[in-house]
Amino acid sequence: KFPAVLVTRDDATKQQSVALTAIAESELMDGDVTVAVEWSTINYKDGLAITGKSPVVRRFPMVPGIDFAGTVTASAHPDFAPGDAVILDGWGVGETHMGGYAGRARVKGDWLIKRPAAISARSAMAVGTAGYTAMLAVMALEKHGLTPARGPVVVTGAAGGVGSVAIAVLAKLGWHVIAVTGRTSEADYLKGLGAAEILERAELAGAPKPLAKERWAAGVDSVGSTTLANVLSMTRYGGAVAACGLAGGMDLPSSVAPFILRGVALLGIDSVMAPKALREAAWARIVADLDLAKLEAMTSEIALADVIGTAPDILAGKVRGRIVVKVA
Ligand code: NAP
Repeated sequence: KFPAVLVTRDDATKQQSVALTAIAESELMDGDVTVAVEWSTINYKDGLAITGKSPVVRRFPMVPGIDFAGTVTASAHPDFAPGDAVILDGWGVGETHMGGYAGRARVKGDWLIKRPAAISARSAMAVGTAGYTAMLAVMALEKHGLTPARGPVVVTGAAGGVGSVAIAVLAKLGWHVIAVTGRTSEADYLKGLGAAEILERAELAGAPKPLAKERWAAGVDSVGSTTLANVLSMTRYGGAVAACGLAGGMDLPSSVAPFILRGVALLGIDSVMAPKALREAAWARIVADLDLAKLEAMTSEIALADVIGTAPDILAGKVRGRIVVKVA
């Protein structure tokens, strides 16, 4: 047996509960590769899964944890052999398939990617889904043809996981980064990551106008709702905003004005079902364009036993940057 965080559900009340326990490999779900998990992480979605605040877990019992890094112990997949260092992000792991908060995971080899040699298992989880999503957002802005010469980039939810990685990467690529945060006490932290300006969250919280003064050429948004609507209304002619999250709400009280009068584009970012080639490209860019010292500066570490107690904090917006979970 090995330690595992397990989410169960009472059939009668439909209430879910969560506990640290021990399970056996025979309790894992079907898959062609078994991995000894070394590190995992806590993303916003993990907070939702563990607390049950949103119906993220759709199979019970469930080991949550949408990311893990570890070493293959057994494989029937042609691309993987025992000893291979691997990473998994998303694919419904921690939602419909048992995930990373356990000593072992058994998954489809098609979901795994080989961990780049330049990045440790711990650093790969400091990146995690949040960081890899931030990189997908940066790549989407670039694919749209945007460069630092076009003007500033705005990053919302700046002190969170997606936001912190986005700032570090964009600053390294030469962008003038405007960081939007509700925690102005974190200004020094955000400037340390590379933010050039700090904007208070409240400035983007008012009722959005169809069009407002043009302030940035690009945006990475992990907040959604009124914040995203205001970001769009302030985006320069021909600019684009990559939408990754809903930390402020699922709605979008916007108008078509930014799209039809300024040619602004809204780029949707999904990390969960992203195809393997895009994932591998994103991880190659992470190795090239994310300063590992900055990654370390935004990362704190907890034990597997602390996962349950930390989950409410990420939903409350109290977590700064990224958290890695030591599993092995
Ligand atoms: P996180 O670390 O909690 O970051 C979210 C940040 O948003 C917070 O740190 C806070 O930043 C800000 N925030 C929180 N509540 C807010 C509110 N009510 N109004 C305005 N701002 C608020 O979470 P994360 O792991 O980075 O994920 C961020 C979002 O992206 C989540 O919604 C997550 O589900 C989503 N996501 C999506 C994908 C995808 O595939 N599309 C992948 C990863 C994450 P400040 O304190 O600086 O204001």
